[in-house]
Amino acid sequence: MATAVDIDVTIVRNPASGEEVGRVPRGGAADAAEAVARAQDGFPGWWDTPAAKRGAIVRAGAEAVLAQRDELALQLTLEQGKPLREARIEITRFVHTLEHYAGLAKNLRGAYVPNLDVRTHGLVLKRPLGVVVAIVPWNFPTTLLGNKLGPALVCGNVVVAKPAETTPLTTLRIAEIMGEHGLPEDVFQVVTGKGSVLGEALVTDPRVAKVAFTGSTPVGKHVAELAARGVKRVTLELGGSDPMIVLDDSDVDAAVSAASVGRFFNCGQACLAVKRLYLHEQIADQFVEKLLEKVRKLRVGAGTAEGTTIGPLHSEEQRTTLEDQVDSTLERGGELLAGGRRPDGEEYASGWFYEPTLILEPSHDSKLAMEEVFGPALPIWRIGGLEEGIARANASEFGLGSSIWTRDLTAATLAAEKLEAGYTWINSAQIIYDELPFGGFGESGVGKEHGNEALDYYQESKAVVVKQSPR
Ligand code: NAP
Ligand code: MG
Repeated sequence: MATAVDIDVTIVRNPASGEEVGRVPRGGAADAAEAVARAQDGFPGWWDTPAAKRGAIVRAGAEAVLAQRDELALQLTLEQGKPLREARIEITRFVHTLEHYAGLAKNLRGAYVPNLDVRTHGLVLKRPLGVVVAIVPWNFPTTLLGNKLGPALVCGNVVVAKPAETTPLTTLRIAEIMGEHGLPEDVFQVVTGKGSVLGEALVTDPRVAKVAFTGSTPVGKHVAELAARGVKRVTLELGGSDPMIVLDDSDVDAAVSAASVGRFFNCGQACLAVKRLYLHEQIADQFVEKLLEKVRKLRVGAGTAEGTTIGPLHSEEQRTTLEDQVDSTLERGGELLAGGRRPDGEEYASGWFYEPTLILEPSHDSKLAMEEVFGPALPIWRIGGLEEGIARANASEFGLGSSIWTRDLTAATLAAEKLEAGYTWINSAQIIYDELPFGGFGESGVGKEHGNEALDYYQESKAVVVKQSPR
């Protein structure tokens, strides 16, 4: 029987143990409407605040968050599952992104167009959109919030954020800290509840000007459809299945490290994880041997345990999906080189753990090749050369990130041009930079986060024609 607790409260649980780590309100349509109304009230004042001051307030909030990094990282590990070291990196990333946009606040610019006609000049004003709804998934709850919060606030918008139902705690604490350090409460609010209820109420509220969504491709499409009914602005950062191509003249050791970190960071639950590995046949055997050595050294455990390099998957649903993807792929071929199972042992009994998994030469139309794999399982194929690698890499509905490893400048630049993805790393681990625009091609999304480009997605251009009367 449903109790009051079931109806009004979400219990947040530690993915490593199933233990309760907190409770938050399970908000509904009325909570969405209230938050949007407050945001709307806060908008004129924030818009009128000088941009430099907005930047200073965002920076002060970021610094306060950094000062509490260890406390926040522990909270993040407890609700999300990632190792503490990775949680600290995530909080630091959040801070860097806010600082980056705080630095751009004084550089917001419009345009002046002289002599459109006789005594007639043009202005291009830039104005904020208004109430922005930020919907964020559980895999990087704070980084992915920061990507939206930084540019939105600096441009003069007000933000209502909805974290994933399973990872609200760190986000709530961040809002509290920023509120204590000068950010007006109605300028940045966090509401908690189910995406299908609270999220939809926010997306369909006519007072909301923009939805900035990060999550899965199916939910993103649905959110875009809902937003389209109100002609709302939308950015979508969706799923990925990033290919990594390694040619025979590459720095193999560096590429092995990048493949290992790229696939197993955050237990493989990253949009930009290395999800398909294509190795030139000349180096494939030595590459796989070195990668296996690295994988054997990974330590699966609770994110809070000393020495853990791979935490649990975030939820039972994630593990069930991964197990189906791995098992169904192996039924159709491929050689299991490592993992493919849950780890044995008492310490793993109550969490969503899974061993790091490598599979050599699975079918090219297996689930590991075709679907987004959000867990620690890496399919590996041999290729004859660059052309085959690019063709295989592009045989995906996704187009988020990609990487090419080679010392051949022609091959590298060709790959950068031809890979159907919003990011291509050349001889570089798949790391995101605030300075560069990030956003997917194809079914991986619409619009950009990061870079100066992100500012365009939080402002509207308005044309003004100025005609001078004759004197
Ligand atoms: P998800 O199921 O799509 O959920 C994402 C967010 O949307 C959550 O806050 C969720 O709320 C909310 N939501 C669910 N249904 C909704 C609806 N009908 N209306 C409004 N909001 C709704 O994604 P996920 O499985 O949690 O996250 C993993 C996915 O995110 C992967 O596909 C990954 O590739 C993608 N991702 C993309 C990027 C990128 O930048 N491109 C970065 C990271 C992750 P509840 O969870 O509370 O229901
Ligand atoms: Mg989901």
